[in-house]
Amino acid sequence: MTATRIDGKAFAARLRERVGEHALAFAEAAGRKPGLAVVLVGDDPASEVYVGSKGKATVAANMLSFKYRLPADASEEQLIKLVDDLNQDDRVDGILVQLPLPGHLDEQSIIAAISPDKDVDGFHVINAGRLSVGQSGFVPCTPLGCMMLLTDRLGDLSGLEAVVIGRSNIVGKPMAQLLLDANATVTVAHSRTKDLASVVKRADIVVAAVGRPQMITKDWLKDGATVIDVGINRLPPEPGKEKGKLVGDVAYDEASEVASAITPVPGGVGPMTIAVLLRNTAVAAYRNAGLKVPEGL
Ligand code: NDP
Repeated sequence: MTATRIDGKAFAARLRERVGEHALAFAEAAGRKPGLAVVLVGDDPASEVYVGSKGKATVAANMLSFKYRLPADASEEQLIKLVDDLNQDDRVDGILVQLPLPGHLDEQSIIAAISPDKDVDGFHVINAGRLSVGQSGFVPCTPLGCMMLLTDRLGDLSGLEAVVIGRSNIVGKPMAQLLLDANATVTVAHSRTKDLASVVKRADIVVAAVGRPQMITKDWLKDGATVIDVGINRLPPEPGKEKGKLVGDVAYDEASEVASAITPVPGGVGPMTIAVLLRNTAVAAYRNAGLKVPEGL
């Protein structure tokens, strides 16, 4: 069997276009564009790249992008004051504080300061709680993006065996919750799981969110499994090259011989994350303005 390549990049492009149309409709109804504020503390080059591309994508989706930068030695009070100002600012529908933060800042306290109604990353405990009890809130972008790819590919997930590898608050746990809500039978595996290969072997759906290059090999997979690879890992550079290749947690080529469908890295889950961030911002705008969130957004 040669697996279908799940084209997250194309799916994300379509989602961004749809979000852009909804953003225009929102602007007509509300008299203002949806707004996303991104806060960057310090000068981590990778974070700078992420913030830059989020800003461009926001504008391309017909929304306002606000960028705030604090120095690496900014105090917790300074950052919380900025978040508070953004909570009060009616032009701002979504607030994203780019992680990781410098070591002296407590990420949980900063996330707790964001209004849950503007928490488009879905990291606030209120939104984690809402997801857990089945109320509508904001769901973290990466797992929601994985879920969109899965339902697009498989339709109804009822009764399917799903194994999520990884239990972080931003990927593994919300992913498991979403799969459970979709009536899959869910197992969450992690670094203490015994005989992980045989746990994965029973899965119709495998979501890998570990951060270990090509850990999941073809002999771990059930024939016909659908594989979502969240991992982003850089291999050591080959001789003469400056940068190593980006790979996922799944050994893509050999897994493709067994799986029925699989996301590539890059071009799979990665592009979904930013598209869902824009989607969550548009949803926040409708909700914050007291307007009905359109179907299909
Ligand atoms: P974390 O490091 O927070 O979590 C990793 C999880 O993997 C932990 O639960 C850990 O278990 C588990 N784990 C580690 N080693 C093993 C092992 N040998 N066997 C089984 N489980 C193991 O990572 P994240 O959830 O933040 O991210 C996971 C991956 O996804 C990373 O590669 C990251 O770069 C990528 N990522 C990609 C995104 C995208 O947009 N595509 C967005 C976010 C993340 P334990 O809890 O026991 O320590």
